[in-house]
Amino acid sequence: MTLPKKFYLGDIVRMRKPHPCGSDRWEVLRVGMDIRIRCLGCGHLVLMPRRKFERAVRQVLGGPNRPPEDLPGGPAEGGTAGPAASGG
Ligand SMILES: [Zn+2]
Repeated sequence: MTLPKKFYLGDIVRMRKPHPCGSDRWEVLRVGMDIRIRCLGCGHLVLMPRRKFERAVRQVLGGPNRPPEDLPGGPAEGGTAGPAASGG
């Protein structure tokens, strides 16, 4: 599984660890040496180094500024029947 190393403003990403508010989706607000993201569940803002961000991202869902050729590819398949990772 490969992740694109390039991120765009407005990208929606899923993080490995869901936020305590219950949402695991974040919007990319700023890209550069540091990445600023906002939780779509509660609006919490987080600023983290790019390297840490890349490791924390689980999936890139796409965004308005992402060119089609840079999309992860493939139609979105519904249904996720995986074991939920329990963690604190
Ligand atoms: Zn949140």
